[in-house]
Amino acid sequence: MDFNFDIFKLSNITNCQPIFYLGKHIFDQHNFNKHFNIKLSTLESFLTTMENQYHMALPYHNNIHAADVLHAMNYFISHPVLDNLLTIEEKFACIISAIIHDIDHPGINNSYEIKHSEPLSVIYNNKSVLENHHCALAFKILHEYINCNILKNVTKSQYTYIRSLIIAMVLATDMACHKQFVDEFTEKLKNQTFNIEDSKDRKLLLCILIKCADISNPTKINKISVQWSNRLFKENLILSVNEKKHQNYNLSPLLKNNCTSKSENQTSFIKIFVKPIYQLLGSFLEIDDFIAIRQLEENYNFWEE
Ligand SMILES: [Zn+2]
Repeated sequence: MDFNFDIFKLSNITNCQPIFYLGKHIFDQHNFNKHFNIKLSTLESFLTTMENQYHMALPYHNNIHAADVLHAMNYFISHPVLDNLLTIEEKFACIISAIIHDIDHPGINNSYEIKHSEPLSVIYNNKSVLENHHCALAFKILHEYINCNILKNVTKSQYTYIRSLIIAMVLATDMACHKQFVDEFTEKLKNQTFNIEDSKDRKLLLCILIKCADISNPTKINKISVQWSNRLFKENLILSVNEKKHQNYNLSPLLKNNCTSKSENQTSFIKIFVKPIYQLLGSFLEIDDFIAIRQLEENYNFWEE
C-alpha cells in the first residue's frame, strides 16, 4: 500500500465519492462483510450516508479529508506489527472511526462554537463539542436507518466493545487533548509499562493511531501536503472573516499565525504536534526509516525556506 496514495485523484475520478470507493476496498481487504455479517447493500448505504454528511463545499473538513484519514488509518493497521496485534473488532472500529470522525463538520472550531454559544456547545456543555457531535450523529444514523447499520448483526458484547472504541477514538481527535495522549503514550513506552494485554492500553494505542491519521497531511509527499495546507488556509480564512464579525473574539495563537504566515503555521504545527506523535508511532512499530518522518522533515525544510 502506498503511503502517498493520491486521495485527490481518487476523489476526481469517483465524482467526489472517495469514502464510498476506498471504504468498499478496505472492507473487502479485511473481510469485514463476512466476519460481521454485513450485506453489500448495507455497506454501500452506510458509506454513502456517511459520505453525504460531510459538507463538500468546505475547503478542508470535507469527505476528501475523511477519506484521507481512512487511508492513513488503514495503512497503519495493515502494518505487520499492528496487523498481528489488533483483533478484527479493533480494526473494524478503527475503520469506522476514520470514516465518521468529522461528519457534519461546520467549518468552525470548538473555540468558536463555545465563544459564541453555538447550539452544539450548549448540547455538549463546551466539552469536545464537535467531536461529540460527529460521534453522536454517527450512532444516531446507525440506530435510525437500519438499512445502513453495519453493526446490526454483531453480538451484544462486540457492539459494546466496538462502540466504546469508536467513541474513544473520535473524541481523541480533539486537538485540545493532544498533549495528554502524547504524554501518556510517551511515559508508557519510556517506562516500558505499556501492556498490550491491558484494555486501557489497547484503547490508548488506537487513539494514537487515529490522531496520527488525522494530522497526517505534513507527513505526505510535498505536492500532496501543500494541497492540504492550502485547503486548511482557505478554511481558516473563512473562519477568521466570521470571527471579525464578532469584535471581541480573540484569535487562537495558531490561527493568528495562519492568517499571517502559512509557512510559520506549518513549521510550528509540525514541530509541536506532528513530529512528536509520529516519532512515538515509529518507535512503537520499530520502523527505522519511517517514510512519514522522512517526508515530514522534507516538508519542514520546504516551509522553512
Ligand atoms: Zn479530521
